[in-house]
Amino acid sequence: MTFEDQLKALIFFHLEEHTSAQHLLQVLEEDDFASDVIAPEEGIKKSSFGEAINSRGLEQLAPIYQNLQSEAVGPLAKEHNELGDLIGIDGSLIDAVIAIMEIAKVCPQTADVLQAGNFGAIQQIAFLGNEFLKKEVLTKLLRGETIITPAMSEPNAGSAVTDLRTTARFDGDEVVINGSKVFNSNGDHAGYFCVWCRFGKGVESSGAVIVPDTASGFSRGKVEQHMSGEHYVSLYFDDCRVPKEYVLMSEEGFKKLLQVFNVERLGNSSRSLALAELAYEKSLQYSKERIQFDRPICEFQGIQWKFVDMKMRLEQARWLLYKAVVEADRGLPTTLDSSLAKLSCNEAAEYVCREAIQIHGGYGVSQEFPLAYLYERARGWMIAGGSVEMLRNRIASEILERRFSQRPPRPPKA
Ligand SMILES: Cc1cc2nc3c(=O)[nH]c(=O)nc-3n(C[C@H](O)[C@H](O)[C@H](O)COP(=O)(O)OP(=O)(O)OC[C@H]3O[C@@H](n4cnc5c(N)ncnc54)[C@H](O)[C@@H]3O)c2cc1C
Repeated sequence: MTFEDQLKALIFFHLEEHTSAQHLLQVLEEDDFASDVIAPEEGIKKSSFGEAINSRGLEQLAPIYQNLQSEAVGPLAKEHNELGDLIGIDGSLIDAVIAIMEIAKVCPQTADVLQAGNFGAIQQIAFLGNEFLKKEVLTKLLRGETIITPAMSEPNAGSAVTDLRTTARFDGDEVVINGSKVFNSNGDHAGYFCVWCRFGKGVESSGAVIVPDTASGFSRGKVEQHMSGEHYVSLYFDDCRVPKEYVLMSEEGFKKLLQVFNVERLGNSSRSLALAELAYEKSLQYSKERIQFDRPICEFQGIQWKFVDMKMRLEQARWLLYKAVVEADRGLPTTLDSSLAKLSCNEAAEYVCREAIQIHGGYGVSQEFPLAYLYERARGWMIAGGSVEMLRNRIASEILERRFSQRPPRPPKA
């Protein structure tokens, strides 16, 4: 039994229920779209996830690993259709986390597909969606037919997401959306977008609408790339119309959306940690093979201490992630757990990938080796889905049990 399987056995022993997207599909199919999206846990015997992943032959992904910077997620997902099946495997969130971590070590972009199929906007539909959205949209997503991406960020609303300006208004049986979004990851291939918008004035009027890419008045900008090659697009809504059944949350939805968004952080954390572990393993191997001054560089204390610090950060991050996942399997992760997990995984990943580059010397920054790519991706996740600064704000707020407004103080009333 692997370490992960032992951990899962331990975790499942204590669990009474779980909320995985995969299990949800089964529930939906068996119960004819039952309204209860949380099904009873059926136990560790249900799946050996390591076996499921290995039977699909991770090594077949190795060739595309060479070509990461120029490929997009959609075609990769289709090309490796068998891996798309993983989205349909029954399991829990810890299964999804382990799958994402194992696959990210071989092909980070395929892990992105699993991320989209298990965390983020898909969970928002699972937790908050009406019967129509579950039947029409969720099943397609869970079958891996297409992906959904979160569309929150706007040109003037990044960390300050409460400043979003995209509007939505009801017009008969439709909802009409106006505004724009930026930094939509993999939006060039997504079939649906979870568009955060305002239904009126004030933060409390914010909600979200699921917009299919076929909607009238919807368009996307040209494909752009982050430094690691990840694709993103801007989204435009010009009197964009969708039937009102596509409304995920109208007024008063903001807090609930944010609460479910905590799940997304677990997927971000898993991918960060996986890339860091890969960088660590590659560095260990390299340090045993690279000879300088007639000895392997792992024999230098300066290099050994790097491995100690890398290992320490990786283990700290791993356990905070597992804790958050275990809590999530009982419902939703708490803001504190998910923020601590993401902060530690993001920072461990940046640290470990940076040190991995150093250990590889000149080869670390060469495109011949994947270290620079791993660093660049890990670096981006320190900003995406809540920057490390904003996470610290959230954690401080949870610890002190107080909200601290980030806005300038209002002038005293005359
Ligand atoms: C790889 C990647 C993928 C992304 N994918 C998506 C996606 O799919 N969908 C989507 O909607 N968005 C996506 N984003 C956008 C992302 O959510 C935003 O970049 C993020 O919220 C930060 O917003 P910003 O870039 O506007 O930076 P800003 O909010 O302008 O922040 C600039 C700097 O100021 C800091 N800062 C801001 N406010 C505070 C504060 N109160 N206290 C301390 N520091 C503060 C920030 O931490 C940051 O360091 C993605 C971003 C990246 C990098």
